[in-house]
Amino acid sequence: MNELNPVPAADAALAERSRKFGASEGNEGIVRCDACPVLCRIRPGRSGACSRYANDNGLLVRTDPVVLLAEAVEVGGPVVPFAENAEDWDGKILPANRAFVTGIGSGTTYPDYKPAPFIVSSQHEGVDTVTVVTEGIFSYCGVKVKIDTDRHLGPETAAVRANGEQIGHVTTAEYGSQMLSLGGVRHLTGGSKKEGNATCEAMLKLSNGEAVELTIDGGHGVIVQAGHAPIVDGKPETRMRVGCGSATIGIFAKQWQGHVDEVIVVDDHITGVLTEHQAGRVLDMKPAGIRVRGRKSTPGRYFQVAQPGLGWGGTDITEPLSIIQKIDAGLAWPGMRLLMTSTTGEDSLYCVLDENLLPVEAEMPAAVRQVVERIGENCEPSLCTVTFMAGAGGSLRAGVTENPVLLTRSVQSGTTRVTMGGAPVYVWPGGGITVMVDVLRMPKNAFGYVPTPAIVAPIEFTLSRELYLASGGHADEIVPMEEILRAHGGQARIENAVAENPWPLRRDVG
Ligand code: SF4
Repeated sequence: MNELNPVPAADAALAERSRKFGASEGNEGIVRCDACPVLCRIRPGRSGACSRYANDNGLLVRTDPVVLLAEAVEVGGPVVPFAENAEDWDGKILPANRAFVTGIGSGTTYPDYKPAPFIVSSQHEGVDTVTVVTEGIFSYCGVKVKIDTDRHLGPETAAVRANGEQIGHVTTAEYGSQMLSLGGVRHLTGGSKKEGNATCEAMLKLSNGEAVELTIDGGHGVIVQAGHAPIVDGKPETRMRVGCGSATIGIFAKQWQGHVDEVIVVDDHITGVLTEHQAGRVLDMKPAGIRVRGRKSTPGRYFQVAQPGLGWGGTDITEPLSIIQKIDAGLAWPGMRLLMTSTTGEDSLYCVLDENLLPVEAEMPAAVRQVVERIGENCEPSLCTVTFMAGAGGSLRAGVTENPVLLTRSVQSGTTRVTMGGAPVYVWPGGGITVMVDVLRMPKNAFGYVPTPAIVAPIEFTLSRELYLASGGHADEIVPMEEILRAHGGQARIENAVAENPWPLRRDVG
């Protein structure tokens, strides 16, 4: 067990909540934590295996404060964080009508039939509302990572590793982004203990916004951190491509007209050739007779011009002229002006065909350079996005209601809103309560773990009191918000609601 450092002082209310969980054992002041299946026996002054619970003078206490959100308010202008502006706020306890109790630091219940740590009643827009608040222990969870880069990180389905252990795989690339699917129950529980722990650690760090170094079998190393540019083989990525090669041709064709005779936009997926492309034809551009390698899909659109890699446009090409298969002497002419560029404009080459119709590098005219620079200008910053995905359709529901299927149905119908740390979630259609959340829309350090291994994540269910009672909710455990604030407001961590998030209790938010 870990050294207890520090544990917040337990006041009467905290002590009361602590008694709800845990149990004293023997005379040595040892407390057994029953907040997860590990059932740690914790000595006085120490914390349990996950560091989330500790023994404070014989009481089981949660070592992190519960996080309360303060609603942003409009003060005759833009919406501003409540805590900075409210005249009626004494700086300590929030008014009940502006507060939301998140699952962060709320504690977990085990076994699951125990009511959730907080079941909060409040009034919103004239409706009696209940929010059931807990920290779910998720064995079924994963992290989807979107990495804005067209550089090839590794083949689809290739193993992704952290500390040498496989923690996921490369999945289907999306428009301008490489995608990783990490975690999941198979890596957490289906492999060795080391694999499970490495998976849990990487997921925890990524979800809490920390950087994680990953390697991909048959591919490259990448450092991933939510909201930051990926670092591929030690090189920070800067630009997300403007589009595929064909799209780039479509966007800029008119701007090139009159300044160049042919443009080839090199791309790992769809390489575009301007005069052959529909965009060039519509502009009445003269066919230039340059045939690139690869498989022709439709006029001016070529697949597989090279192997994937870290070169031009996510290919392995560093010598762009190498993708030219032939130049048709019947169509091309000496002096023909050729531009080759990548989809980010980071790589470009301007050539003029000599007497033998061979491309010879020349200085790029200012008008052409301007369009290449505009490609770069139209690229968005390259970022990593981390979404946490979990299944809450299992036993966790028993902490909300005695008839779990009614909760599932009301979540699926939208009458119960699910949030994670107050952030909106996407609820997947179909069975269960499978949710996905952007970790950057949650308060900092919202995630924890238990060594089973599993990820601990905040989750809140908000519904009308009427529906809660009709769903078999734990009616005796409902506590008014005012009481929660009086009892816990003093120790709580109060955060301003994230500006782009809808207030979790608003009724008009779907
Ligand atoms: S690992 Fe489980 S039992 Fe041990 S302190 Fe953490 S929550 Fe309690």
